[in-house]
Amino acid sequence: MRWSRTVISTLREDPQEAEIASHKLMLRAGLLKKLSGGLYTFTPLGVRALHKVEEIIREEMDAAGAQEILMPALQPIELWEKSGRASRMGASMFRLKDRQGRAMVLGPTHEEVVTDYICKEISSYRQLPCTIYQIQTKFRDEIRPRFGLMRAKEFIMKDAYSFDVSFEAADASYKAMYDAYERIFKRCGLLARPVEADTGAIGGNHSHEFMVPAPSGEDGILECQKCGYAANQERAERKPAPSKFAEEFSGGPEEVPTPGAHTVAEAAESVGVPEEQIVKSLIYMADGNPVMAIVEGTRELNECKLRRILGCSELVMADDVQSAEAAGPVGSIGPLGVRIPVYADIGLRGAKDMVVGANREGFHIKHVNVDSLSEITAWEDIVTVEPDDLCPRCGSPMRVVRGIEVGHVFKLGTKYTDAFNAKFLDSEKNSRVMVMGCYGIGVTRTLQAVVEQNFDKDGIIWPVSVAPYSVVVLPLDAEKDPACAAAAERIVKDLESAGIDVIVDDRDERPGVKFKDADLIGFPVRVVVGTRSLGKGGVEVRMRRTGESVTVPPESAAQRVSEMLSRMREDF
Ligand code: ATP
Ligand code: MG
Repeated sequence: MRWSRTVISTLREDPQEAEIASHKLMLRAGLLKKLSGGLYTFTPLGVRALHKVEEIIREEMDAAGAQEILMPALQPIELWEKSGRASRMGASMFRLKDRQGRAMVLGPTHEEVVTDYICKEISSYRQLPCTIYQIQTKFRDEIRPRFGLMRAKEFIMKDAYSFDVSFEAADASYKAMYDAYERIFKRCGLLARPVEADTGAIGGNHSHEFMVPAPSGEDGILECQKCGYAANQERAERKPAPSKFAEEFSGGPEEVPTPGAHTVAEAAESVGVPEEQIVKSLIYMADGNPVMAIVEGTRELNECKLRRILGCSELVMADDVQSAEAAGPVGSIGPLGVRIPVYADIGLRGAKDMVVGANREGFHIKHVNVDSLSEITAWEDIVTVEPDDLCPRCGSPMRVVRGIEVGHVFKLGTKYTDAFNAKFLDSEKNSRVMVMGCYGIGVTRTLQAVVEQNFDKDGIIWPVSVAPYSVVVLPLDAEKDPACAAAAERIVKDLESAGIDVIVDDRDERPGVKFKDADLIGFPVRVVVGTRSLGKGGVEVRMRRTGESVTVPPESAAQRVSEMLSRMREDF
Protein backbone atom coordinates (compact mmCIF):
# COMPACT_ATOMS: atom_id res chain seq x y z
CA MET A 1 0.00 0.00 0.00
CA ARG A 2 1.17 3.50 -0.82
CA TRP A 3 0.84 6.02 1.98
CA SER A 4 -0.22 8.70 -0.50
CA ARG A 5 -3.21 6.61 -1.57
CA THR A 6 -4.64 6.04 1.86
CA VAL A 7 -6.14 8.46 4.36
CA ILE A 8 -3.68 8.77 7.22
CA SER A 9 -3.50 11.88 9.33
CA THR A 10 -1.36 12.01 12.42
CA LEU A 11 -1.34 14.71 15.09
CA ARG A 12 1.75 16.30 16.62
CA GLU A 13 0.06 17.27 19.88
CA ASP A 14 -1.96 15.30 22.40
CA PRO A 15 -5.67 15.89 21.82
CA GLN A 16 -7.25 17.80 24.71
CA GLU A 17 -10.07 15.38 25.42
CA ALA A 18 -7.92 12.26 25.81
CA GLU A 19 -6.92 11.38 29.37
CA ILE A 20 -5.11 8.07 29.06
CA ALA A 21 -2.09 7.11 26.96
CA SER A 22 -3.81 4.64 24.66
CA HIS A 23 -6.62 7.05 23.82
CA LYS A 24 -4.16 9.85 23.08
CA LEU A 25 -2.04 7.57 20.92
CA MET A 26 -4.94 6.07 18.96
CA LEU A 27 -6.03 9.61 18.08
CA ARG A 28 -2.53 10.95 17.44
CA ALA A 29 -1.57 8.01 15.25
CA GLY A 30 -4.73 8.56 13.21
CA LEU A 31 -6.32 5.19 13.98
CA LEU A 32 -9.50 6.75 15.35
CA LYS A 33 -11.51 9.90 14.77
CA LYS A 34 -14.05 11.11 17.26
CA LEU A 35 -17.59 11.67 15.99
CA SER A 36 -19.03 12.65 19.37
CA GLY A 37 -18.84 11.43 22.97
CA GLY A 38 -18.38 7.65 22.99
CA LEU A 39 -18.62 7.37 19.18
CA TYR A 40 -15.58 6.84 16.95
CA THR A 41 -14.76 6.27 13.31
CA PHE A 42 -12.06 3.72 12.58
CA THR A 43 -9.75 5.06 9.88
CA PRO A 44 -8.24 2.76 7.23
CA LEU A 45 -5.28 2.18 9.58
CA GLY A 46 -7.48 1.60 12.62
CA VAL A 47 -9.75 -0.82 10.85
CA ARG A 48 -6.79 -2.96 9.75
CA ALA A 49 -5.69 -3.42 13.35
CA LEU A 50 -9.29 -4.07 14.40
CA HIS A 51 -9.73 -6.75 11.74
CA LYS A 52 -6.57 -8.47 12.89
CA VAL A 53 -7.93 -8.73 16.44
CA GLU A 54 -11.22 -10.03 15.03
CA GLU A 55 -9.41 -12.65 12.94
CA ILE A 56 -7.49 -13.93 15.95
CA ILE A 57 -10.74 -14.22 17.86
CA ARG A 58 -12.45 -16.00 14.95
CA GLU A 59 -9.64 -18.50 14.56
CA GLU A 60 -9.60 -19.37 18.24
CA MET A 61 -13.39 -19.55 18.53
CA ASP A 62 -13.56 -21.83 15.50
CA ALA A 63 -10.71 -23.96 16.87
CA ALA A 64 -12.63 -24.30 20.15
CA GLY A 65 -15.61 -25.67 18.24
CA ALA A 66 -17.78 -22.56 18.27
CA GLN A 67 -19.81 -21.58 15.19
CA GLU A 68 -20.16 -18.04 13.94
CA ILE A 69 -23.61 -16.51 13.52
CA LEU A 70 -24.86 -12.95 13.20
CA MET A 71 -27.88 -11.66 15.08
CA PRO A 72 -29.69 -8.35 14.62
CA ALA A 73 -28.64 -5.37 16.70
CA LEU A 74 -32.24 -4.16 16.58
CA GLN A 75 -34.38 -6.26 18.90
CA PRO A 76 -38.05 -6.31 19.93
CA ILE A 77 -38.56 -5.31 23.56
CA GLU A 78 -40.79 -8.37 24.17
CA LEU A 79 -37.71 -10.58 24.42
CA TRP A 80 -36.38 -8.40 27.20
CA GLU A 81 -39.71 -8.48 28.98
CA LYS A 82 -39.65 -12.26 28.80
CA SER A 83 -36.28 -12.43 30.57
CA GLY A 84 -37.28 -9.76 33.07
CA ARG A 85 -34.42 -7.49 32.03
CA ALA A 86 -36.46 -4.78 30.28
CA SER A 87 -36.69 -2.75 33.47
CA ARG A 88 -33.43 -3.93 35.00
CA MET A 89 -31.35 -2.54 32.14
CA GLY A 90 -32.82 0.88 32.91
CA ALA A 91 -31.46 3.87 31.04
CA SER A 92 -28.35 2.05 29.84
CA MET A 93 -30.39 0.44 27.03
CA PHE A 94 -31.14 2.52 23.92
CA ARG A 95 -34.87 2.26 23.26
CA LEU A 96 -36.79 3.30 20.17
CA LYS A 97 -40.01 2.67 18.26
CA ASP A 98 -40.58 1.55 14.70
CA ARG A 99 -43.13 3.29 12.44
CA GLN A 100 -45.89 1.01 13.72
CA GLY A 101 -45.08 2.16 17.24
CA ARG A 102 -43.57 -1.18 18.27
CA ALA A 103 -41.01 -0.81 21.06
CA MET A 104 -37.50 -1.92 20.12
CA VAL A 105 -34.04 -1.74 21.65
CA LEU A 106 -30.52 -1.50 20.27
CA GLY A 107 -28.96 -4.61 21.74
CA PRO A 108 -26.53 -4.05 24.62
CA THR A 109 -25.97 -7.85 24.63
CA HIS A 110 -27.68 -10.89 23.10
CA GLU A 111 -28.66 -13.49 25.71
CA GLU A 112 -32.34 -12.98 24.91
CA VAL A 113 -32.04 -13.14 21.12
CA VAL A 114 -29.73 -16.14 21.17
CA THR A 115 -31.90 -18.11 23.60
CA ASP A 116 -34.95 -17.37 21.50
CA TYR A 117 -33.09 -18.63 18.42
CA ILE A 118 -31.68 -21.76 20.03
CA CYS A 119 -34.88 -22.87 21.73
CA LYS A 120 -36.58 -22.94 18.33
CA GLU A 121 -33.62 -24.71 16.73
CA ILE A 122 -32.62 -27.39 19.22
CA SER A 123 -34.95 -30.10 20.44
CA SER A 124 -32.78 -33.15 21.09
CA TYR A 125 -29.75 -34.01 23.21
CA ARG A 126 -28.18 -35.15 19.96
CA GLN A 127 -27.80 -31.49 18.92
CA LEU A 128 -25.92 -30.62 22.11
CA PRO A 129 -23.47 -29.29 23.18
CA CYS A 130 -23.66 -26.20 21.00
CA THR A 131 -21.56 -23.05 21.22
CA ILE A 132 -22.19 -20.14 18.90
CA TYR A 133 -20.66 -16.71 18.65
CA GLN A 134 -20.86 -13.47 16.75
CA ILE A 135 -18.72 -10.38 16.33
CA GLN A 136 -21.07 -7.46 16.34
CA THR A 137 -21.82 -3.91 17.37
CA LYS A 138 -23.35 -3.36 20.80
CA PHE A 139 -25.02 -0.23 22.11
CA ARG A 140 -24.94 0.96 25.70
CA ASP A 141 -25.92 4.38 26.96
CA GLU A 142 -23.07 4.46 29.47
CA ILE A 143 -23.29 7.02 32.27
CA ARG A 144 -19.72 8.12 31.60
CA PRO A 145 -18.42 7.21 28.17
CA ARG A 146 -14.69 7.88 28.35
CA PHE A 147 -11.17 6.79 27.48
CA GLY A 148 -12.00 6.36 23.79
CA LEU A 149 -12.80 2.77 22.91
CA MET A 150 -12.55 1.67 26.53
CA ARG A 151 -16.03 2.80 27.47
CA ALA A 152 -17.95 3.76 24.36
CA LYS A 153 -21.64 4.07 23.57
CA GLU A 154 -21.24 1.86 20.53
CA PHE A 155 -18.57 -0.84 20.50
CA ILE A 156 -17.76 -4.18 18.97
CA MET A 157 -18.12 -7.27 21.08
CA LYS A 158 -17.49 -10.90 20.43
CA ASP A 159 -20.22 -12.67 22.30
CA ALA A 160 -20.47 -16.43 22.53
CA TYR A 161 -23.13 -18.60 24.11
CA SER A 162 -22.99 -22.27 25.03
CA PHE A 163 -25.90 -24.67 25.49
CA ASP A 164 -25.50 -28.00 27.25
CA VAL A 165 -27.46 -30.96 28.57
CA SER A 166 -26.26 -30.60 32.17
CA PHE A 167 -24.25 -28.48 34.57
CA GLU A 168 -21.29 -30.86 34.25
CA ALA A 169 -21.37 -30.66 30.48
CA ALA A 170 -21.62 -26.85 30.72
CA ASP A 171 -18.41 -26.87 32.78
CA ALA A 172 -16.58 -28.36 29.82
CA SER A 173 -17.95 -25.71 27.45
CA TYR A 174 -16.89 -23.02 29.92
CA LYS A 175 -13.40 -24.48 30.13
CA ALA A 176 -13.09 -24.53 26.34
CA MET A 177 -13.95 -20.82 26.15
CA TYR A 178 -11.70 -19.95 29.11
CA ASP A 179 -8.77 -21.67 27.41
CA ALA A 180 -9.55 -20.00 24.08
CA TYR A 181 -9.56 -16.61 25.82
CA GLU A 182 -6.10 -17.22 27.22
CA ARG A 183 -4.85 -17.96 23.71
CA ILE A 184 -6.65 -15.00 22.14
CA PHE A 185 -5.19 -12.41 24.49
CA LYS A 186 -1.75 -13.93 24.28
CA ARG A 187 -1.86 -13.85 20.49
CA CYS A 188 -2.91 -10.19 20.61
CA GLY A 189 0.29 -9.51 22.55
CA LEU A 190 -1.65 -8.78 25.71
CA LEU A 191 -0.89 -9.77 29.22
CA ALA A 192 -4.39 -10.52 30.50
CA ARG A 193 -5.07 -12.50 33.64
CA PRO A 194 -8.25 -14.23 34.71
CA VAL A 195 -9.71 -13.08 38.02
CA GLU A 196 -12.79 -14.25 39.90
CA ALA A 197 -15.68 -11.97 39.11
CA ASP A 198 -19.07 -11.05 40.46
CA THR A 199 -21.97 -13.07 39.14
CA GLY A 200 -24.87 -10.89 40.23
CA ALA A 201 -27.75 -12.87 41.65
CA ILE A 202 -26.67 -16.19 40.10
CA GLY A 203 -23.99 -16.85 42.69
CA GLY A 204 -21.12 -19.27 42.93
CA ASN A 205 -17.60 -19.16 41.55
CA HIS A 206 -18.94 -19.19 38.07
CA SER A 207 -17.42 -16.22 36.42
CA HIS A 208 -14.01 -14.95 35.46
CA GLU A 209 -13.01 -11.64 34.00
CA PHE A 210 -9.86 -11.31 31.92
CA MET A 211 -8.05 -8.26 33.18
CA VAL A 212 -5.24 -6.30 31.59
CA PRO A 213 -3.21 -4.71 34.39
CA ALA A 214 -2.99 -0.95 33.81
CA PRO A 215 -2.99 2.02 36.17
CA SER A 216 -5.80 3.57 34.09
CA GLY A 217 -8.03 0.49 34.55
CA GLU A 218 -11.50 1.10 35.94
CA ASP A 219 -11.60 -2.12 37.95
CA GLY A 220 -9.85 -2.88 41.22
CA ILE A 221 -8.33 -6.35 41.51
CA LEU A 222 -7.35 -7.85 44.84
CA GLU A 223 -4.41 -10.16 44.47
CA CYS A 224 -2.38 -12.33 46.75
CA GLN A 225 1.19 -12.55 45.62
CA LYS A 226 1.79 -15.59 47.75
CA CYS A 227 -0.85 -18.03 46.52
CA GLY A 228 -2.07 -16.33 43.34
CA TYR A 229 -5.66 -15.66 44.47
CA ALA A 230 -7.06 -12.82 42.36
CA ALA A 231 -10.56 -11.39 42.31
CA ASN A 232 -12.42 -8.30 41.22
CA GLN A 233 -12.92 -5.93 44.15
CA GLU A 234 -16.66 -6.30 43.54
CA ARG A 235 -16.48 -9.85 44.78
CA ALA A 236 -13.10 -10.36 46.48
CA GLU A 237 -13.25 -12.08 49.85
CA ARG A 238 -10.90 -11.85 52.79
CA LYS A 239 -9.97 -13.63 55.97
CA PRO A 240 -11.06 -11.22 58.70
CA ALA A 241 -8.50 -10.15 61.27
CA PRO A 242 -9.46 -10.90 64.89
CA SER A 243 -11.56 -8.15 66.51
CA LYS A 244 -9.69 -5.57 68.55
CA PHE A 245 -12.70 -5.26 70.83
CA ALA A 246 -13.05 -8.87 71.92
CA GLU A 247 -13.16 -8.16 75.64
CA GLU A 248 -16.75 -8.09 76.94
CA PHE A 249 -17.59 -5.18 79.27
CA SER A 250 -18.87 -6.54 82.55
CA GLY A 251 -21.32 -3.71 83.19
CA GLY A 252 -23.42 -4.52 80.09
CA PRO A 253 -24.76 -2.12 77.43
CA GLU A 254 -25.28 1.54 78.21
CA GLU A 255 -27.16 4.19 76.29
CA VAL A 256 -25.27 7.45 75.83
CA PRO A 257 -26.38 10.79 74.39
CA THR A 258 -24.69 11.68 71.10
CA PRO A 259 -26.44 14.89 70.08
CA GLY A 260 -25.98 15.86 66.47
CA ALA A 261 -23.80 12.80 65.71
CA HIS A 262 -24.93 11.27 62.42
CA THR A 263 -21.80 9.94 60.78
CA VAL A 264 -19.46 7.25 62.07
CA ALA A 265 -16.79 9.89 62.69
CA GLU A 266 -19.18 12.09 64.65
CA ALA A 267 -20.48 9.17 66.72
CA ALA A 268 -16.92 8.03 67.48
CA GLU A 269 -15.97 11.49 68.61
CA SER A 270 -19.09 11.94 70.67
CA VAL A 271 -18.69 8.61 72.48
CA GLY A 272 -14.91 8.93 72.70
CA VAL A 273 -13.95 5.70 70.92
CA PRO A 274 -12.08 4.94 67.68
CA GLU A 275 -14.17 4.75 64.50
CA GLU A 276 -13.49 1.02 64.26
CA GLN A 277 -15.43 0.50 67.48
CA ILE A 278 -18.59 1.95 65.96
CA VAL A 279 -20.93 -0.44 64.16
CA LYS A 280 -22.15 1.03 60.88
CA SER A 281 -25.80 0.00 60.37
CA LEU A 282 -27.39 0.44 56.95
CA ILE A 283 -30.91 -0.26 55.80
CA TYR A 284 -31.55 -1.44 52.26
CA MET A 285 -34.70 -2.30 50.38
CA ALA A 286 -34.20 -5.71 48.74
CA ASP A 287 -36.90 -6.13 46.10
CA GLY A 288 -38.99 -3.83 48.27
CA ASN A 289 -38.33 -5.49 51.66
CA PRO A 290 -36.15 -3.85 54.32
CA VAL A 291 -32.97 -5.55 55.51
CA MET A 292 -30.21 -4.27 57.77
CA ALA A 293 -26.50 -4.71 57.12
CA ILE A 294 -23.99 -4.09 59.89
CA VAL A 295 -20.25 -3.63 59.31
CA GLU A 296 -17.30 -2.16 61.19
CA GLY A 297 -17.35 1.65 61.17
CA THR A 298 -14.28 2.02 58.98
CA ARG A 299 -15.43 -0.43 56.29
CA GLU A 300 -17.48 0.03 53.14
CA LEU A 301 -20.49 -2.17 52.59
CA ASN A 302 -20.25 -3.94 49.21
CA GLU A 303 -23.64 -3.83 47.50
CA CYS A 304 -22.65 -6.43 44.88
CA LYS A 305 -21.90 -8.96 47.61
CA LEU A 306 -25.03 -8.18 49.59
CA ARG A 307 -27.20 -8.47 46.49
CA ARG A 308 -25.71 -11.83 45.69
CA ILE A 309 -26.24 -13.13 49.23
CA LEU A 310 -29.83 -11.94 49.29
CA GLY A 311 -30.47 -13.26 45.77
CA CYS A 312 -32.55 -10.18 45.01
CA SER A 313 -32.69 -8.35 41.71
CA GLU A 314 -33.02 -4.84 43.07
CA LEU A 315 -31.12 -3.51 46.06
CA VAL A 316 -31.42 0.17 46.94
CA MET A 317 -30.62 2.15 50.05
CA ALA A 318 -33.73 2.83 52.12
CA ASP A 319 -34.86 6.44 52.27
CA ASP A 320 -35.36 8.28 55.59
CA VAL A 321 -38.99 7.22 55.92
CA GLN A 322 -38.28 3.55 55.14
CA SER A 323 -35.35 3.56 57.58
CA ALA A 324 -37.36 5.12 60.36
CA GLU A 325 -40.12 2.57 59.81
CA ALA A 326 -37.74 -0.40 59.78
CA ALA A 327 -35.45 0.65 62.66
CA GLY A 328 -34.84 4.26 63.57
CA PRO A 329 -33.73 7.67 62.34
CA VAL A 330 -30.80 7.72 59.90
CA GLY A 331 -27.65 8.50 61.89
CA SER A 332 -28.77 6.58 64.96
CA ILE A 333 -29.67 3.22 63.42
CA GLY A 334 -28.65 0.04 65.22
CA PRO A 335 -29.51 -3.67 65.26
CA LEU A 336 -30.81 -3.90 68.84
CA GLY A 337 -34.47 -4.87 68.98
CA VAL A 338 -35.15 -4.64 65.23
CA ARG A 339 -37.55 -7.07 63.58
CA ILE A 340 -36.09 -7.06 60.07
CA PRO A 341 -33.37 -9.46 58.86
CA VAL A 342 -29.90 -8.35 59.97
CA TYR A 343 -26.83 -9.36 57.97
CA ALA A 344 -23.62 -8.96 59.94
CA ASP A 345 -20.21 -8.77 58.32
CA ILE A 346 -17.83 -11.51 59.43
CA GLY A 347 -15.35 -8.78 60.46
CA LEU A 348 -17.61 -8.19 63.48
CA ARG A 349 -17.25 -11.81 64.65
CA GLY A 350 -15.86 -11.83 68.17
CA ALA A 351 -16.53 -8.08 68.61
CA LYS A 352 -17.93 -7.84 72.14
CA ASP A 353 -17.54 -4.21 73.12
CA MET A 354 -19.01 -2.10 70.34
CA VAL A 355 -21.05 1.05 69.89
CA VAL A 356 -24.32 0.85 67.94
CA GLY A 357 -27.07 3.35 67.10
CA ALA A 358 -29.94 3.35 69.60
CA ASN A 359 -32.68 3.77 66.96
CA ARG A 360 -33.47 7.01 68.81
CA GLU A 361 -32.37 10.42 67.51
CA GLY A 362 -29.29 11.65 69.40
CA PHE A 363 -28.42 8.38 71.16
CA HIS A 364 -26.02 5.47 70.76
CA ILE A 365 -25.48 2.38 72.90
CA LYS A 366 -21.99 1.36 74.01
CA HIS A 367 -20.58 -1.90 75.36
CA VAL A 368 -22.72 -3.99 72.99
CA ASN A 369 -21.71 -7.62 72.49
CA VAL A 370 -22.35 -7.82 68.76
CA ASP A 371 -20.96 -11.33 68.57
CA SER A 372 -23.96 -12.79 70.39
CA LEU A 373 -26.78 -10.55 69.19
CA SER A 374 -29.93 -12.60 68.69
CA GLU A 375 -31.15 -10.13 66.03
CA ILE A 376 -28.46 -11.29 63.59
CA THR A 377 -29.95 -13.44 60.84
CA ALA A 378 -26.67 -14.41 59.16
CA TRP A 379 -22.92 -13.76 59.27
CA GLU A 380 -21.60 -13.02 55.82
CA ASP A 381 -18.70 -11.36 54.05
CA ILE A 382 -20.38 -8.14 52.91
CA VAL A 383 -17.67 -5.47 52.84
CA THR A 384 -15.38 -4.29 50.07
CA VAL A 385 -11.95 -5.81 50.52
CA GLU A 386 -9.15 -3.27 50.87
CA PRO A 387 -5.38 -3.46 50.38
CA ASP A 388 -3.65 -5.26 53.26
CA ASP A 389 -6.73 -7.36 54.01
CA LEU A 390 -5.78 -11.00 54.33
CA CYS A 391 -6.10 -13.50 51.50
CA PRO A 392 -9.15 -15.77 52.00
CA ARG A 393 -7.10 -18.78 50.88
CA CYS A 394 -3.69 -18.41 52.54
CA GLY A 395 -4.01 -15.50 54.99
CA SER A 396 -1.22 -13.33 53.49
CA PRO A 397 -1.79 -9.60 53.01
CA MET A 398 -3.19 -8.76 49.59
CA ARG A 399 -2.70 -5.76 47.35
CA VAL A 400 -4.93 -3.88 44.93
CA VAL A 401 -3.96 -3.39 41.30
CA ARG A 402 -5.98 -1.64 38.61
CA GLY A 403 -7.16 -3.55 35.56
CA ILE A 404 -9.03 -3.21 32.28
CA GLU A 405 -11.70 -5.87 31.77
CA VAL A 406 -11.24 -7.14 28.22
CA GLY A 407 -13.27 -10.33 28.52
CA HIS A 408 -15.76 -12.10 30.69
CA VAL A 409 -16.72 -15.79 30.88
CA PHE A 410 -19.86 -16.65 32.79
CA LYS A 411 -21.80 -19.77 33.72
CA LEU A 412 -25.41 -18.68 33.45
CA GLY A 413 -27.07 -21.91 34.52
CA THR A 414 -30.73 -21.91 33.50
CA LYS A 415 -31.60 -18.25 34.09
CA TYR A 416 -32.44 -17.56 30.44
CA THR A 417 -33.31 -21.06 29.28
CA ASP A 418 -35.94 -21.23 32.05
CA ALA A 419 -37.38 -17.86 31.03
CA PHE A 420 -37.56 -18.92 27.37
CA ASN A 421 -38.57 -22.49 28.11
CA ALA A 422 -35.57 -23.71 26.13
CA LYS A 423 -35.93 -27.47 26.52
CA PHE A 424 -34.62 -30.58 24.82
CA LEU A 425 -35.46 -34.28 24.97
CA ASP A 426 -32.79 -36.38 26.65
CA SER A 427 -31.94 -39.96 25.65
CA GLU A 428 -34.79 -41.24 27.84
CA LYS A 429 -37.23 -38.83 26.18
CA ASN A 430 -37.45 -36.63 29.27
CA SER A 431 -37.87 -32.94 28.62
CA ARG A 432 -35.09 -30.92 30.27
CA VAL A 433 -33.95 -27.32 30.35
CA MET A 434 -30.65 -26.48 28.63
CA VAL A 435 -27.77 -25.15 30.73
CA MET A 436 -26.18 -22.04 29.36
CA GLY A 437 -22.94 -20.06 29.46
CA CYS A 438 -22.03 -16.70 27.96
CA TYR A 439 -18.64 -15.34 26.99
CA GLY A 440 -17.84 -11.78 25.94
CA ILE A 441 -14.78 -10.04 24.61
CA GLY A 442 -14.74 -6.30 24.13
CA VAL A 443 -13.07 -6.36 20.71
CA THR A 444 -12.59 -2.61 20.39
CA ARG A 445 -11.60 -2.31 24.05
CA THR A 446 -9.08 -5.12 23.55
CA LEU A 447 -7.51 -3.26 20.63
CA GLN A 448 -7.04 -0.16 22.74
CA ALA A 449 -5.78 -2.24 25.69
CA VAL A 450 -3.02 -3.53 23.40
CA VAL A 451 -1.92 0.07 22.91
CA GLU A 452 -2.24 0.82 26.64
CA GLN A 453 0.25 -1.97 27.26
CA ASN A 454 2.58 -1.30 24.33
CA PHE A 455 3.95 2.19 23.87
CA ASP A 456 6.91 4.45 24.62
CA LYS A 457 7.53 8.19 24.45
CA ASP A 458 7.62 8.11 20.64
CA GLY A 459 4.36 6.28 20.10
CA ILE A 460 2.69 2.91 19.79
CA ILE A 461 4.69 -0.33 19.64
CA TRP A 462 2.35 -2.78 17.92
CA PRO A 463 2.73 -6.49 18.45
CA VAL A 464 3.15 -7.97 14.97
CA SER A 465 -0.13 -9.87 15.25
CA VAL A 466 -2.32 -6.75 15.37
CA ALA A 467 -0.19 -4.06 13.73
CA PRO A 468 -2.03 -2.17 10.94
CA TYR A 469 0.95 -3.01 8.71
CA SER A 470 3.90 -5.16 9.78
CA VAL A 471 6.43 -3.08 7.87
CA VAL A 472 6.87 0.50 6.73
CA VAL A 473 9.33 1.26 3.94
CA LEU A 474 10.71 4.82 3.86
CA PRO A 475 12.31 5.80 0.54
CA LEU A 476 14.09 9.01 1.52
CA ASP A 477 15.50 10.20 -1.77
CA ALA A 478 13.26 8.55 -4.33
CA GLU A 479 12.45 11.81 -6.10
CA LYS A 480 16.06 12.61 -6.87
CA ASP A 481 17.66 9.20 -6.98
CA PRO A 482 16.30 6.49 -9.32
CA ALA A 483 18.49 3.86 -7.61
CA CYS A 484 16.80 4.65 -4.35
CA ALA A 485 13.32 4.44 -5.90
CA ALA A 486 14.19 1.12 -7.56
CA ALA A 487 15.61 -0.38 -4.36
CA ALA A 488 12.49 0.61 -2.41
CA GLU A 489 10.27 -0.78 -5.16
CA ARG A 490 12.09 -4.08 -5.09
CA ILE A 491 11.90 -4.43 -1.31
CA VAL A 492 8.17 -3.74 -1.31
CA LYS A 493 7.64 -6.36 -4.06
CA ASP A 494 9.74 -8.94 -2.22
CA LEU A 495 7.82 -8.32 1.00
CA GLU A 496 4.48 -8.55 -0.75
CA SER A 497 5.39 -11.82 -2.42
CA ALA A 498 6.42 -13.17 0.97
CA GLY A 499 2.89 -12.37 2.18
CA ILE A 500 4.05 -9.57 4.47
CA ASP A 501 1.80 -6.52 4.73
CA VAL A 502 3.77 -3.41 3.96
CA ILE A 503 3.10 0.27 3.53
CA VAL A 504 5.50 2.53 1.68
CA ASP A 505 5.74 6.14 2.79
CA ASP A 506 5.89 7.77 -0.64
CA ARG A 507 4.84 11.20 0.62
CA ASP A 508 6.82 14.23 -0.37
CA GLU A 509 7.82 14.91 3.23
CA ARG A 510 11.04 15.58 5.08
CA PRO A 511 12.78 12.45 6.46
CA GLY A 512 12.18 13.75 10.02
CA VAL A 513 8.42 13.76 9.49
CA LYS A 514 8.48 10.24 8.05
CA PHE A 515 10.58 8.90 10.93
CA LYS A 516 8.32 10.50 13.53
CA ASP A 517 5.14 9.17 11.95
CA ALA A 518 6.59 5.67 11.58
CA ASP A 519 7.44 5.63 15.29
CA LEU A 520 4.13 7.19 16.33
CA ILE A 521 2.01 4.69 14.40
CA GLY A 522 4.35 2.00 15.62
CA PHE A 523 4.90 -0.38 12.69
CA PRO A 524 6.93 -3.32 14.06
CA VAL A 525 9.66 -3.02 11.38
CA ARG A 526 10.93 0.01 9.50
CA VAL A 527 13.07 -0.16 6.37
CA VAL A 528 14.88 3.03 5.40
CA VAL A 529 16.11 3.35 1.82
CA GLY A 530 18.36 6.39 1.33
CA THR A 531 21.03 7.41 -1.16
CA ARG A 532 23.72 7.62 1.51
CA SER A 533 23.35 4.12 2.91
CA LEU A 534 22.75 2.63 -0.54
CA GLY A 535 26.13 4.09 -1.47
CA LYS A 536 27.56 1.97 1.31
CA GLY A 537 25.68 -1.00 -0.09
CA GLY A 538 22.64 -1.27 2.10
CA VAL A 539 19.31 -0.30 3.59
CA GLU A 540 18.56 0.02 7.27
CA VAL A 541 16.15 -2.51 8.81
CA ARG A 542 15.04 -1.61 12.33
CA MET A 543 12.77 -3.13 14.97
CA ARG A 544 10.43 -0.65 16.59
CA ARG A 545 10.28 -2.41 19.97
CA THR A 546 14.00 -2.81 20.67
CA GLY A 547 15.49 -0.19 18.36
CA GLU A 548 17.82 -2.93 17.10
CA SER A 549 18.91 -2.21 13.53
CA VAL A 550 21.03 -3.75 10.78
CA THR A 551 22.15 -2.58 7.36
CA VAL A 552 21.66 -5.17 4.64
CA PRO A 553 21.78 -5.17 0.82
CA PRO A 554 18.37 -4.37 -0.71
CA GLU A 555 18.04 -7.86 -2.17
CA SER A 556 18.20 -9.52 1.24
CA ALA A 557 16.09 -6.91 3.08
CA ALA A 558 12.82 -8.85 2.79
CA GLN A 559 14.46 -11.97 4.14
CA ARG A 560 15.85 -10.07 7.13
CA VAL A 561 12.48 -8.40 7.79
CA SER A 562 10.78 -11.75 7.70
CA GLU A 563 13.24 -13.16 10.26
CA MET A 564 12.71 -10.20 12.55
CA LEU A 565 8.93 -10.56 12.34
CA SER A 566 9.11 -14.26 13.21
CA ARG A 567 11.33 -13.50 16.18
CA MET A 568 8.93 -10.84 17.41
CA ARG A 569 5.95 -13.16 16.97
CA GLU A 570 7.65 -15.72 19.18
CA ASP A 571 7.82 -13.20 21.99
CA PHE A 572 4.04 -13.51 22.40
P1 ATP B 1 -17.88 -3.07 32.46
O1 ATP B 1 -17.87 -3.67 33.84
O2 ATP B 1 -16.54 -2.59 32.00
O3 ATP B 1 -18.99 -2.07 32.24
P2 ATP B 1 -19.56 -5.16 31.59
O4 ATP B 1 -19.47 -6.06 32.75
O5 ATP B 1 -20.73 -4.29 31.45
O6 ATP B 1 -18.22 -4.26 31.50
P3 ATP B 1 -20.03 -7.33 29.74
O7 ATP B 1 -21.48 -7.12 29.69
O8 ATP B 1 -19.49 -8.52 30.44
O9 ATP B 1 -19.32 -5.98 30.26
O10 ATP B 1 -19.47 -7.24 28.24
C1 ATP B 1 -18.40 -8.03 27.72
C2 ATP B 1 -17.21 -7.18 27.37
O11 ATP B 1 -17.55 -6.06 26.57
C3 ATP B 1 -16.51 -6.57 28.57
O12 ATP B 1 -15.63 -7.51 29.15
C4 ATP B 1 -15.77 -5.40 27.96
O13 ATP B 1 -14.53 -5.81 27.44
C5 ATP B 1 -16.66 -4.98 26.82
N1 ATP B 1 -17.43 -3.76 27.13
C6 ATP B 1 -18.45 -3.61 27.98
N2 ATP B 1 -18.93 -2.36 27.98
C7 ATP B 1 -18.18 -1.67 27.08
C8 ATP B 1 -18.19 -0.31 26.61
N3 ATP B 1 -19.07 0.57 27.05
N4 ATP B 1 -17.26 0.05 25.68
C9 ATP B 1 -16.38 -0.85 25.21
N5 ATP B 1 -16.33 -2.13 25.61
C10 ATP B 1 -17.22 -2.55 26.53
MG1 MG C 1 -18.27 -7.11 33.89
